[in-house]
Amino acid sequence: MRDVTLTFDNGPEPDVTPGVLDVLARTGVPATFFVLGKKIADPAGRRLAERAAAEGHWIANHTYSHETPLGLLPGADVPGAEIGRTQDLIGGLAHADKPFRPFGGGGALGPHLLSRAAADYLAAGGYTCVLWNAVPRDWADPDGWVETAMEQISALDHALVVVHDLPTGAMAHLERFIDGVRAAGGAFRRDFPEACVPLRRGRITGDFAACVAEAA
Ligand SMILES: [Zn+2]
Repeated sequence: MRDVTLTFDNGPEPDVTPGVLDVLARTGVPATFFVLGKKIADPAGRRLAERAAAEGHWIANHTYSHETPLGLLPGADVPGAEIGRTQDLIGGLAHADKPFRPFGGGGALGPHLLSRAAADYLAAGGYTCVLWNAVPRDWADPDGWVETAMEQISALDHALVVVHDLPTGAMAHLERFIDGVRAAGGAFRRDFPEACVPLRRGRITGDFAACVAEAA
């Protein structure tokens, strides 16, 4: 393990995200929050995204409703409703690269991530598609995910870890994870490993096709 990038998906949550931001501030770790449009449409969620951005974190797009992986939704109107609507809500808080992370439905990579329409929408809109290489399943194992994460990242030069600022109790262990990484010689950075970015600012930079469902 050398470098670790931390990302928080599915928030913001009024009962969880403030504590996460406090830990990140105290430990000096820069991160990215992949927010849901439906949560920042709420004023309380919006304020949390504003706080995260003001504290130097990147705000990124993780769909509006987060109910079905976009590869299973071939409709032409879906990308605008799920991706565009969320980007509009993020508005001026967005990073210039327009980072977007598809909903994986449990952390799996594959062609279920994006429909052809969604892939074309991301490319035409100059988005950056951000995947992952470490998913410790904090939602399923709120008290044990730190050990899983340490094991997953141990062999990676640059880990991109997905955790969730959701009310599962998992984030109570965030500082222990950060301390563990540093104790093991790892360092935190905010940018994403190249291997996890198959589309950058609308330009294909990796195996983007592997994320796209075959046309019906
Ligand atoms: Zn998610």
